[in-house]
Amino acid sequence: MSQATIRNLDPATGELIEEVPCATGADVQAAVARARAAWPAWRDMESSQRLDLVRAALERMGEQAPELGAVLSREMGKPLDRAVGEVRGYCQRLTEELERVAQAIAPEIVPGSEDRVLLTREPHGVVAVITPWNFPVGMPAQMLVPALGAGNTVVFKPSEHVPLTGAYLARLFQEQLPEGVLELLQGEGAVGAALVDADVDMVAFVGSRATGIAIMRSAAGGLKRVVLELGGKDPLIIFADSDLEAAALSATQFSLSNTGQVCCSVERVLVESSVAEKIEELVLKEVANWPFGDPLAKGTCMGPLVSESQRDNVVAHVADAREKGARIAIGGELPEGPGWFYPATVIVDAPEDAKVRRDETFGPVVCLSTFETEEEAIEKANDTIYGLGANVWTSDPERGHRVSAALRAGQVGVNRYLGGAPGTPWVGARQSGMGFLGGIEGHRQFTSPKTVATAPA
Ligand code: NAD
Repeated sequence: MSQATIRNLDPATGELIEEVPCATGADVQAAVARARAAWPAWRDMESSQRLDLVRAALERMGEQAPELGAVLSREMGKPLDRAVGEVRGYCQRLTEELERVAQAIAPEIVPGSEDRVLLTREPHGVVAVITPWNFPVGMPAQMLVPALGAGNTVVFKPSEHVPLTGAYLARLFQEQLPEGVLELLQGEGAVGAALVDADVDMVAFVGSRATGIAIMRSAAGGLKRVVLELGGKDPLIIFADSDLEAAALSATQFSLSNTGQVCCSVERVLVESSVAEKIEELVLKEVANWPFGDPLAKGTCMGPLVSESQRDNVVAHVADAREKGARIAIGGELPEGPGWFYPATVIVDAPEDAKVRRDETFGPVVCLSTFETEEEAIEKANDTIYGLGANVWTSDPERGHRVSAALRAGQVGVNRYLGGAPGTPWVGARQSGMGFLGGIEGHRQFTSPKTVATAPA
């Protein structure tokens, strides 16, 4: 492995929180071997008993929300109340989801044959769960619950930017589960790569497209199952007939939320040119409500970027847009002082080849550009390799229907921000992912169907 420790830095101050030892190659092999050894007993346990243990872990997560949220906030920079909200929100949602996991794995007798045909959902074996830092509790928990609930054992590697949150979450589960059912590995990408390469049966991954490609390539050798939830470049289209105040508010909030570090952040706002001035005015008004500040202080709505390199990426995107002729309506200057803060920034009319129009910015940037016709709006919205989410604002229901059908994305919001009802899968189209999470279909990806047909006696 390339490094011995993670230097876990506080993004608000740049100070060292803790040096966390990284797993060695031997640690990776040993963790996977322990998970493999624990698998048969876990797989053969009554599913209701297994799900009760997972439920107990989620209960502990809920009880520990303030403490876990504080660790998350300190090492990732998410404002404290939102960090605690992340823990509580996922805890509640995933507890409700357990019922759907039970349905997803329940055996069925399939009608239509004279023989008895039993369809079961078999766990894969050992699942590698590899996760990013932007929702450091939510992302792993949403995969741990169905993976474990379906009868797999798990080796979990959290992001190197949030090792303490990952360790805390893993401990809450480990305290409820038999030994070896959940193993934890700390380290950067090299540890993740070694885990994918080790004797695992499935890789459940949330992270960047580039890492997703590397994982798929490496998993191909052993035909390992993969679920990949990757990045996006989500558009939000505002037609002139829409509720402009509501549309501008949504565009701004979902560009800036979590300091823009959300996979389905609004990364491009496409505005019908006749209302472009008005939308810019409304966006600038809302941006004033998004000052950055100490994530641990009460009332902060926007913390720092997670790391220096993440901030460098945002700085590079803004500089590139400026060089290519875009207007920076507000922000765009590095603040003085410690930490990796960056101000809410509004970029107007960046050309189509600007980085901010093409690559994930993952920062507090509202990127405004214009279109003239519905066809042009659709064409520009779809002009990306990604397909995670998209949003459309119009008061014409027919147009809402037409445009949402034409958008090449896994999740579309019409006159609201995207997001499904309970039970709908979280899904990215095109290069935003492979497979999906959540809902009965999502949970079943942690299993393979198996049929046993028995002739009548
Ligand atoms: P990343 O791809 O850099 O890292 C994610 C995880 O993969 C980390 O744990 C990292 O150590 C590990 N890793 C890195 N290289 C690896 C390799 N070669 N093999 C195996 N593991 C490896 O992503 P990030 O910067 O942590 O997260 C941000 C990205 O995640 C953004 O692109 C964002 O859009 C995406 N994301 C997607 C979703 C979704 O649901 N689609 C949700 C959250 C974040």
